[in-house]
Amino acid sequence: MSSIQTVKNYINGKWIASSSGKTTANTNPAHTDEVLCYTPLSTKEEAQEAIAVAKAAFPSWKSTPAPQRGKLLFKAMHLLQERIEDVAAALTKEEGKILREAKGEIQRALNIMEYTAGEGRRLKGSTIPSELPNTFIYTIRQPIGPIGLITPWNFPVAIPIWKIAPALLAGNTVVFKPATITPITAQKIVEIFEAAGFPAGVLNLVYGSGSAIGDEIVNNHNIHGVSFTGSCEVGNTVYSQASRHNARVQCEMGGKNPLIVLNDADLKLAVEGAIQGGFGSTGQRCTAASRVIVEDSIADTLVDMMLMRMENFKVGDGMKPETDMGPCVDENQMNTVLKYIDIGKGENARLLKGGKRLTEGLYAKGYFVEPTLFDYVLPTMRIAQEEIFGPVISVIRVKDFEAAVAAANGVQFGLSASLYTNDLSKAMKFVDNADVGKVHVNSPPIGGEAQAPFGGIKATGIGPRECGSETFEFYTEIKTVYVDYTGKKREGNIY
Ligand code: NAD
Repeated sequence: MSSIQTVKNYINGKWIASSSGKTTANTNPAHTDEVLCYTPLSTKEEAQEAIAVAKAAFPSWKSTPAPQRGKLLFKAMHLLQERIEDVAAALTKEEGKILREAKGEIQRALNIMEYTAGEGRRLKGSTIPSELPNTFIYTIRQPIGPIGLITPWNFPVAIPIWKIAPALLAGNTVVFKPATITPITAQKIVEIFEAAGFPAGVLNLVYGSGSAIGDEIVNNHNIHGVSFTGSCEVGNTVYSQASRHNARVQCEMGGKNPLIVLNDADLKLAVEGAIQGGFGSTGQRCTAASRVIVEDSIADTLVDMMLMRMENFKVGDGMKPETDMGPCVDENQMNTVLKYIDIGKGENARLLKGGKRLTEGLYAKGYFVEPTLFDYVLPTMRIAQEEIFGPVISVIRVKDFEAAVAAANGVQFGLSASLYTNDLSKAMKFVDNADVGKVHVNSPPIGGEAQAPFGGIKATGIGPRECGSETFEFYTEIKTVYVDYTGKKREGNIY
């Protein structure tokens, strides 16, 4: 254990070893005998200390002009750009996604930093006409205070950045709790903010379990806002607990995203979208295309084309350039995926390809599962309803466009949806009627651009959207100001 580092908390500008003495091993999911580091299971007292520090740092950070905060963020962006190879390799090693995807994720983080830093020169309020003479009404945006950011493992760079960047830019201070299984990327992000010159106490990092550190952040009355991304189960608890003490809460949670293929679609394009959307990042995306909903008349052709495309889809270590898909992130996640494959078989969905753990040769020491394709999945089956979060695509055959939309909407989640068609009228009807926060026409449901809002409805999302200018709906309070320069007592109606 001695030569492998135990990562440290970052509190008040110092890297401090946790006093808990308890750690968990962070292993490479492609080579499970490779321990990358140990993650401390910090104590609640350490979280309380970080929260107290964030509270103390708030007044001075709040009064730092927003354009100056933006300048620091630009600096952090440049540092991340310089370190992209190093951060990408760390991401692939601890999360498992292939290096190309890791770099893509970091590029997304860079775009978010660029966009958000520029907002330091805007962060606009508005002017409002008054019904009274010589009265000026305007609004200003102010930070909400110390904020807790709780993040999942599947986008361990982009998600923390899309929370930390706007939180800090708006003048809030932060206590960041990453997932325990992706500690190195979290460390590298915070190192970059430190090197950029963010003042001590403004950004704090505490490693540890959800039940200790997460719970403290959510329930501590000095935390004025909680932005959470993760599972519905945890998110719903976070929401109910944090809102009890009137903290502002934002939760982005699970998805079960449909990709509809209509009979006039460009099938080659649709197949690429389905494979990339369903198996990219090993299906461990909240926006993964886990349901392919297809019109009966073209279903056989589409399925044959998908099977052909899967023939040369290479599973392996994400560090190797020839790999298309890496391992599941850990044993738990792999077992969940295998459990759902069994459930699908038990539900009499037709397993066309995949379905097994890979254990031979190169795969012997990793959490690799074959890309898996089920056909004749009914919209009501569990594999069509529940989030699997792995490389499993369910093909659902429907008779027409209306049935496709009904199937797409017939789940508890509402994150992202996509439709492949050349029929503009059907595309626009789908845009109007899809019960989701984000629609893609002729591209898979994954991803999102920095300047556009991101998030879901129904069981997926609580609170305002992330990213884009909408992100500041969460990270700022609006203050309305009335300035009366009549110099006289107000006459007439008093409201
Ligand atoms: P998770 O809910 O298990 O954990 C998320 C975070 O919450 C972790 O940091 C965890 O330690 C913490 N946590 C756990 N229990 C807690 C508690 N009681 N109080 C406070 N915090 C607690 O999720 P995960 O397995 O890390 O991530 C996968 C999930 O995230 C999937 O459901 C996926 O769809 C979702 N996700 C959603 C989006 C989105 O934007 N909608 C993006 C990425 C991932």
